[in-house]
Amino acid sequence: MPTCQNCHNKWSWKETIKKTTTLNPTMTCPYCGEKQFQTQKSKGKIAMLTPIVLLPLLIQIFFDVPGVILFSLFPILFILVIVLYPFFVDLSSEEKYIGEH
Ligand SMILES: [Zn+2]
Repeated sequence: MPTCQNCHNKWSWKETIKKTTTLNPTMTCPYCGEKQFQTQKSKGKIAMLTPIVLLPLLIQIFFDVPGVILFSLFPILFILVIVLYPFFVDLSSEEKYIGEH
């Protein structure tokens, strides 16, 4: 779960979802009100999480799985990614880390 780099309070799952689903890259800490930014590294981790949603397509290549099962897998995997992704969010007080871009 993301931890505020200013007050070191852990953000709740719900708070993280609320902050990250807005288009605004600036996230205000619910505890101290300081601006926080998602690190580039954590964005990379989340980008690696999204192919999970496409997993049924991969299964389809190798196994003859009925389409009904595959289609019911999509929402399940989608929810799984949503549930997991706040655990991959890392915060920084700076918009960009030094030595990270
Ligand atoms: Zn804070």
